Amino acid sequence: MGENEEPPTDDPRMRPWAAGEATEVPLSVARDPDVPLWWSEHHDELIAAAIKRDQWSWILHPGDVAAITPPEVLAAWRRRHEARSHISWYGYLAWFARGRAAELGLTSGVRQPEVRDCERCGSPFLKSSIRASLVDRVGADALIYCGPCLGSFVYPLSGDDGATTDDVLRYVRSIVELLGRAPRQDFGERLGDLDSFEREEKLAILRVLSTRPTVTQVKLLFGSWKAAVTQATTTKSSPPSGAKEAVPNDVDRGHRLRQTP
Ligand SMILES: [Zn+2]
Repeated sequence: MGENEEPPTDDPRMRPWAAGEATEVPLSVARDPDVPLWWSEHHDELIAAAIKRDQWSWILHPGDVAAITPPEVLAAWRRRHEARSHISWYGYLAWFARGRAAELGLTSGVRQPEVRDCERCGSPFLKSSIRASLVDRVGADALIYCGPCLGSFVYPLSGDDGATTDDVLRYVRSIVELLGRAPRQDFGERLGDLDSFEREEKLAILRVLSTRPTVTQVKLLFGSWKAAVTQATTTKSSPPSGAKEAVPNDVDRGHRLRQTP
């Protein structure tokens, strides 16, 4: 199951921060005079948006910084930074942002993480125990699953390896109905997949994603994701018994696999 394990975490971007941790950033970093030479109010808006979205688990993504910074300006700062520090530039900026957020008072309203029961396994978990790479995918307002459960269907190559033909068809129909379109097979794995949805929509999508079959299982039962989508969207769910419908070979194969006593 190595491929479903969480990624290594010495990268500061992957580590959840404790709610009060921002105050521990040294002033020398929080007030580094070199960064504000190019840091703008738009960069501060990035911080505010990340805090609003991810609460105690917010981090500043280097890609977001790069997207609104002239490349030559960022490159010049990186050269200056790398000449005087062994800390990675993105780690340093994430750290600087923590300090700046505290200096600007942006973290004063950050919600504290709560304990709740996982909707899937039932175990109680502290929301701050979920690593940032997972919170990033769903947002802090949609943590209804514990870390291991969430990771088991949103990390790359994860999913239900025991899904049956009916499970796969049900998953496809449900996700198509929610999204109004057939998504990529890896929908839910990438950062940003759920960003555009309101909380209630996101929860509905997550509950369906929690039944997502693995790539391997879809391939075994249907040959490909495309074939599974075609079948799910061109056939009706659970035809009445005795109905004479043309059944493609791969469905037949799936049924046999599943119904072997
Ligand atoms: Zn769980």
